[in-house]
Amino acid sequence: MKRQVHSKEVRAAALLRLSERGVALSDIAEIVYIMQAPYNVGLKMSSCLESVEAVLEKREIQHAILVGTELDILAEKKMLSEPLQSIIETDEGLFGCDETLALGSVFGYGSIAVTTFGHLDKQKIGIIKRLDTKRGSGIHTFLDDLVASIASSASSRMAHRLRDEEEAEKERQLKQKQQDEQVG
Ligand code: MG
Repeated sequence: MKRQVHSKEVRAAALLRLSERGVALSDIAEIVYIMQAPYNVGLKMSSCLESVEAVLEKREIQHAILVGTELDILAEKKMLSEPLQSIIETDEGLFGCDETLALGSVFGYGSIAVTTFGHLDKQKIGIIKRLDTKRGSGIHTFLDDLVASIASSASSRMAHRLRDEEEAEKERQLKQKQQDEQVG
């Protein structure tokens, strides 16, 4: 019988891979902060980090991280066959599989995640810019999109949570007012 991989093992491998490839969770949280700060007064970095960690609990994103970074690593070692080797090595603009893989895991977080991903794909900010294969050393054709995906999902998650909190607060205030009126 084939071995069934435990989800703890997948989670640990994906997190280790991110750090081995030079991405700290705080780097991703920084992008979330930049994306959400305009809509969220008093936003804390710790909330952004918490949201990134929650997104990384999803098996879908863990799998995408493992697949994408594996291809980046194999390309660095020149272990892929042609023409894929050259396509990934040069981060060929029309390739698109890097974006498609990363985009696949944002759908669970709704349309805000999808539009944020599109935005980050164009306006490479923070670590995404630093990872750009065309600028620096190493091949990060897939990794930059994966980081954008995690950041987009985490941003969307925060936006929805904020609305939930606002609504809960309004309901609390309304109830309090009704109670006060009854007493008065
Ligand atoms: Mg890319």
